[in-house]
Amino acid sequence: MSDQHVYRADLRIDVDAIRHNVRVLAGRAADSGARTMVIVKSDGYGHGALTVARAALEAGADRLGVAALGEALQLREGGITAPVLCWLFTEGDEFGPAIAADIELSASSQATLARIVAAATAQDRVARVHLKIDTGLARSGCPADLWPALVEAAAKAEAAGRIRVEAVWSHLACADEPGHPSIDMQAERFARAYEQARAAGLDPIRHLANSAAVLTRPDLHFELVRPGIAVYGLDPVPQAGDHDLRPAMTFRSSVSLTKRVPAGESVSYGHSWTARKATNLALVPVGYADGVPRSLSGRMDVWLAGRRRPVRGRVCMDQLVVDCGDDEVREGDEVIVFGPGDRGEPTAAEWADELGTIHYEIVTGMFRPRVTRTVVNSEAEGT
Ligand SMILES: *Cc1c(COP(=O)(O)O)cnc(C)c1O
Repeated sequence: MSDQHVYRADLRIDVDAIRHNVRVLAGRAADSGARTMVIVKSDGYGHGALTVARAALEAGADRLGVAALGEALQLREGGITAPVLCWLFTEGDEFGPAIAADIELSASSQATLARIVAAATAQDRVARVHLKIDTGLARSGCPADLWPALVEAAAKAEAAGRIRVEAVWSHLACADEPGHPSIDMQAERFARAYEQARAAGLDPIRHLANSAAVLTRPDLHFELVRPGIAVYGLDPVPQAGDHDLRPAMTFRSSVSLTKRVPAGESVSYGHSWTARKATNLALVPVGYADGVPRSLSGRMDVWLAGRRRPVRGRVCMDQLVVDCGDDEVREGDEVIVFGPGDRGEPTAAEWADELGTIHYEIVTGMFRPRVTRTVVNSEAEGT
């Protein structure tokens, strides 16, 4: 684990952890007879979409899912041949190249379906389509009143050999609050939409479950589940027990300068913190440009030289200052800004709680132009 390299701002991506998490999740799905689509949108929640995609497929995932068309095409360019679903489009998106690349496309409206059919016709190929029903998130998805017409149109296009309707699907609003009444309500609406698709002559699979539902609602696994955040080792339902997930991202840096300051010296912009007694300070060359929120100034720790230590004063664009008391720390010493938490270091979940957000937003926002990503993949070593 002790990489010799001294990092400035590096995201260590633990591929073994990703594989472990996928085995856990795909195992849960398999217990209900379901397959697993791993969601790698937004560059694999900041972990690297291709890295995660390959690890997920090795560990038992069958499919991949992304939001934007460019993300789907990047997976293909990276050599991924597994089924890929893409679900969020603009009028500027061209479906022809996507269909030619065997990307499966979601349709929430007849207008989108018509564009897919036109592109498939032009390509002389059969487009694979997932019809999305809005069961209560009121985001993407077809409203229930327009659904019968959508499934009729899809059945017609399927009969004409233009599309193959792979799935009927939807997304849950409150799965991270187990027992929330909306979950059963959405499940009921989903069942009705599926029946309508069957009645129209379609024979689709169903998928509804995000990570939280994979972990807490086996009755909603159907034929396929769509975990995202849990693949990265972050638990969306920690209140529902220990789910044996391992966070895959560690943000690390190193001490670039140390100094002893006397009592009465103030630290960083605005002098918001003043030393009550002489202390050793360690300068760490990461700041808000590297994803450390400035609003954590004065309320965050880092792991340095064997223990947690407080960050003092303001987090700057490029730097932050750590209070080491009378402990000797050295330039080059590794700093864990956040990690899995195994040693007691801060975690992305802890940052999220402190900031009033969710760990999804933390990890997804960490990879930036100056930040490097180092993939650690022990199972691949020696092969
Ligand atoms: C992001 C996303 C998921 C994965 O959700 P998690 O909560 O990260 O498991 C699944 N389905 C859709 C449509 C999504 O947008």
